[in-house]
Amino acid sequence: MRYFCPECGKSVNKLFDKLCSKCYLELKNPIKVNECLELLVCRSCGKIKVFGRWLEKNNESLKNFVMNNISFSNLKITDAALDFYQKDYGYDVKLVIRISNNKKEFRFEKKFKIFEKKVLCESCLKLSGQYYEGILQLRGNFNKDKLLNEVNSFFEKEKLEDSLASVVSIEQLKEGIDLKIGSARSLKRLVKNVLSKFNVEVLETYSVVGYDRQKNKMKKRVTFCVRFL
Ligand SMILES: [Zn+2]
Ligand SMILES: [Zn+2]
Repeated sequence: MRYFCPECGKSVNKLFDKLCSKCYLELKNPIKVNECLELLVCRSCGKIKVFGRWLEKNNESLKNFVMNNISFSNLKITDAALDFYQKDYGYDVKLVIRISNNKKEFRFEKKFKIFEKKVLCESCLKLSGQYYEGILQLRGNFNKDKLLNEVNSFFEKEKLEDSLASVVSIEQLKEGIDLKIGSARSLKRLVKNVLSKFNVEVLETYSVVGYDRQKNKMKKRVTFCVRFL
């Protein structure tokens, strides 16, 4: 059975809300999305901002970003698929959704663009300003190159979860080496999971370095003095 769309006169085999699917989409505008979405991308670590959080850029986080920017009125969607086409400015996006209505399934297509805006995420901003939450003091007898390699490769893995996990600076001293570390949490994990496996003495101290108005508490910095015996 064929039907005629009263709007455009096209002959189709099913009508949605008395219209062909193209006219329905244009006239009823059930899927609301900006023609151009702006996506913040960190130019240093490549993460993208999705709903206030910085996430690794992949298909899933891009999809979340797009879905957070679309409203579907009260449609009952049975399936939604997104295709991304990389461009100079970001992406061209094709959204295909399926909606069922009276046991019939309809397919709607919508195209729009994502424009990338390069910024620095909070973590990279902190790192670029020599921000650090902890100090690691290495003392005693150890193989410098080998140990620094271990420290760096540990932080490489940690960085996937904690973008502040890295060595901000290295200072060679008479009595050993001082490292400034971006993330106190990752520094703690380094000491516990890597350094404690050596024959070492560990001393953990804290110093107050300011006041965090946002969190309403003292800003502390942790120092681990690790002495290799
Ligand atoms: Zn039509
Ligand atoms: Zn970043």
